[in-house]
Amino acid sequence: MALIVQKFGGTSVGSIERIEQVAEKVKKHREAGDDLVVVLSAMSGETNRLIDLAKQITDQPVPRELDVIVSTGEQVTIALLAMALMKRGVPAVSYTGNQVRILTDSAHNKARILQIDDQKIRADLKAGRVVVVAGFQGVDEHGNITTLGRGGSDTTGVALAAALKADECQIYTDVDGVYTTDPRVVPQARRLEKITFEEMLEMASLGSKVLQIRSVEFAGKYNVPLRVLHSFKEGPGTLITIDEEESMEQPIISGIAFNRDEAKLTIRGVPDTPGVAFKILGPISASNIEVDMIVQNVSHDNTTDFTFTVHRNEYEKAYAVLENTAREIGAREVSGDTKIAKVSIVGVGMRSHAGVASRMFEALAKESINIQMISTSEIKVSVVIEEKYLELAVRALHTAFELDAPARQSE
Ligand code: ASP
Ligand code: MG
Repeated sequence: MALIVQKFGGTSVGSIERIEQVAEKVKKHREAGDDLVVVLSAMSGETNRLIDLAKQITDQPVPRELDVIVSTGEQVTIALLAMALMKRGVPAVSYTGNQVRILTDSAHNKARILQIDDQKIRADLKAGRVVVVAGFQGVDEHGNITTLGRGGSDTTGVALAAALKADECQIYTDVDGVYTTDPRVVPQARRLEKITFEEMLEMASLGSKVLQIRSVEFAGKYNVPLRVLHSFKEGPGTLITIDEEESMEQPIISGIAFNRDEAKLTIRGVPDTPGVAFKILGPISASNIEVDMIVQNVSHDNTTDFTFTVHRNEYEKAYAVLENTAREIGAREVSGDTKIAKVSIVGVGMRSHAGVASRMFEALAKESINIQMISTSEIKVSVVIEEKYLELAVRALHTAFELDAPARQSE
């Protein structure tokens, strides 16, 4: 008999019918003999609605009070599911974060879980009950309700699974797993059977929005096997786990991630002296702007060029800071471009295979796509290209790395 934590997202509990469906599913699972802890989100749209209510009172709601409001969404769904289970003859009990005692720090709206008291849950499981826990919320040491940041129910699920040493944490959602890339861009994208925590973190931070990033970090840290599954379709989903080295037949690249959220800034004709990178990027970070990729050219005539990317929302702000710096250090000019996209290939297989980057560059060259910037890490190669070539690039790479699904037989 296994202990499983099952987390259902907002669309999976978005209506009474859906909640009844989830109850059916949980019941079946329970009857198969596993101990179950179920973590729920609020009904889809509900958290936004609650935030909107607060904003009708004030533009800047006090974070503590905002948590009091937004935590109510999950309190509704857990009680409804517990009732739906009991109606089906399945003993169940619901708990808010405070009732379990999911202890967090006091950083309202983005709290971190410090400790979970597992006593109550264990006693309920022992008594044969399904335990239904509100996602996204906790309580600080003073008894204030806290929330974990948007999408935080994933983290609740993983944290509970870690605390209870569950056999698996299953994240039920509206997709049937993690894909090699976005199927809307590449129809031949395939569901992955398995992906490592590291790869998933890269995919998530690069824009694949299946899981909250923090939940993946948490799962990796505590080695909680995570599985992403469709709420209402049968299937094995995607298992996210540690690299088990048995992946001989695994492709070198697991997925292609991309995002359109970045913008590029260049400062030219910078006197090339020690400390120049600090002089340029210091004021950027002092303005709380996060920098992603950075390239500095080899100097020529004692001057150099410097290019970096920031989030597109911060482009204007960064541009102004950079113009100011240019004046101060006597650089020649500042320029920028918001019509760029970043495309990345991700895979732990890169560690043991040479030539992965050049295969990527070759595939892009064949499509005459110009690469503007490159950065690499142990398990990732990213390039910046002109935005209008994004889709073409992703498709070409998906094919070049043999990720395309075999042509489907008609059913
Ligand atoms: N209901 C919260 C949100 O919408 C938490 C979650 O769904 O994970 O962000
Ligand atoms: Mg979610």
